[in-house]
Amino acid sequence: MSAHLDRLLFAQGGMCFFCRNPLPKADASVEHLVASSNGGANADDNCVACCRALNQLLGSKSIKEKLQIVLNQRGNFKCPAHLATPPKPPAPGLADTGNSPSVSAPKPAAAKVPSATQERLELVLADLKKRGASRPRKTSTLTSTIKALIKQHRQENLSDADLNGLIGELQRQGKVTISEGKVTYKVG
Ligand SMILES: [Zn+2]
Repeated sequence: MSAHLDRLLFAQGGMCFFCRNPLPKADASVEHLVASSNGGANADDNCVACCRALNQLLGSKSIKEKLQIVLNQRGNFKCPAHLATPPKPPAPGLADTGNSPSVSAPKPAAAKVPSATQERLELVLADLKKRGASRPRKTSTLTSTIKALIKQHRQENLSDADLNGLIGELQRQGKVTISEGKVTYKVG
């Protein structure tokens, strides 16, 4: 089961399937979308890794009820654990560079950030902080904002792959959450 959880977490980029918060293995559990008690398989295509508290809430509800719960939170899905307590502050040093390994969160093996990406990330994060409430709310605006910013400060034309990598890294670090084309931020 533990290897199963590892595999699911890796495939999900270390994030909860539902709320997309960074998910340390200690807080994670395997959720069977169709519950085992309802005949759900133990195979990967019926399983996701999610916050333990949510898994307990979903229990052996029918897939319809589970979807209802998720849809009720649509746009800004919060797992119960994240509703009850404020998110844990980032590990010391993590907020500075985003490059030091977090104490608790398991990282995929390929998580090392190349320095050019790191510099772009810092640029983007500094800009997002500065923007405060006027941060882009749509994915399309976020991508064009990042492109323009990198061009302006680094004279680089970001490829789509680089851009996606950058946004992926922001999500992996929990700075940016994208749900249905809407963007929310935790950049401090
Ligand atoms: Zn969650």
